[in-house]
Amino acid sequence: MTTPFTGERIRTAREIFGLTQAALRDQAGVSQSLLSQVERGQKPASRDLVDAVAKAVDLPLEFFDVILDEVPLDSLRFRKQQTASAVTTRRAHALFQEGFRVSRLLVEGTGYPRPSLPVATGELQKEDIVELAAETRRALQLDGSKPIPHLMRSVERAGIPVAPIVLPDDDETSTKNQHFGLSYWSGPDEDAFIGYFPGHQGDRDRFTLAHEVGHLVLHLRRRPADPEREANLFAGELLMPFERAQETLSGHLTLNEYRQVKALWGVSIQGLVMRAKQVGAIDDERSTSLWKQISARGWRRIEPVTVQPESPVLLGRLRRHLYGDRPLRDLRKELALSTTLLKSLLDPGSPRVHQDPDNVVPLRMRQ
Ligand SMILES: [Zn+2]
Repeated sequence: MTTPFTGERIRTAREIFGLTQAALRDQAGVSQSLLSQVERGQKPASRDLVDAVAKAVDLPLEFFDVILDEVPLDSLRFRKQQTASAVTTRRAHALFQEGFRVSRLLVEGTGYPRPSLPVATGELQKEDIVELAAETRRALQLDGSKPIPHLMRSVERAGIPVAPIVLPDDDETSTKNQHFGLSYWSGPDEDAFIGYFPGHQGDRDRFTLAHEVGHLVLHLRRRPADPEREANLFAGELLMPFERAQETLSGHLTLNEYRQVKALWGVSIQGLVMRAKQVGAIDDERSTSLWKQISARGWRRIEPVTVQPESPVLLGRLRRHLYGDRPLRDLRKELALSTTLLKSLLDPGSPRVHQDPDNVVPLRMRQ
């Protein structure tokens, strides 16, 4: 059976795979003008058309019957990336929506608790963001002043499923090392979901995740002029609270000592230098000098000290709770998504560690 929304679902399928109408026409062997009319809702989709498209992109027929609660694109704040193309943005949005839909089904089916995070309202000063990050630590059941051992686990335990957004057939050139995320929260005690492009570097992924949690807390009810700056400040604060940052990142710290701090806190050296400046632990001159050294050592591209990337586990657990050991291919119909896409959401496995042996300096404690 097709619905009045089938045309939209065909467009979504196209967006997920980054296909133009002409490319889908060729792959599915259907008429392009028919595709265009169906996508615009000017003609109903015939079963034959849906069959052909489903086969071409390997999606189950159920995908095309889904009536989606759309997540508005403008509510998804891509962590700022000038290099992300419009096609990549649409693909990420389409995949995020499918991830959110599946995540909701699993959360609903298992009765897993929804998040109760603080919700910011009104004008915020820097001190307010410091306080909101502290409240968020409490909501995530984290110690107020210690390093966060496994941020992803804490976020998921608090009822926010996380999944990597992996573009099918991605040659990696479009997303490699971009470290961006997307997040959405319907409201207190309702569903939330965070998607991220795994960047193979644990410290960067942790910052992305903390940044997205910042959007959930800070921007559910507010539309400030510069949400990215606020989310970055929140992320720094969540990962390394103000007072700890002030005492840890004193002006005398050498760049080599920053490596030890990175290993302990899971924050990149570059992030720590920015944080040191933010909390007033170093002045402009010291900051400039540290950045020069970072550049000279080639650490802008690859930093020493590998922070193991964290991988999400919640959706996989909910899936097993609901469906036991049934293989993913058996869940295609119920979850209305292809096996490959289900795997990337529900069974992402351990991420690869990005390591460039020429640039990784072994961690050595300075006496
Ligand atoms: Zn952002």
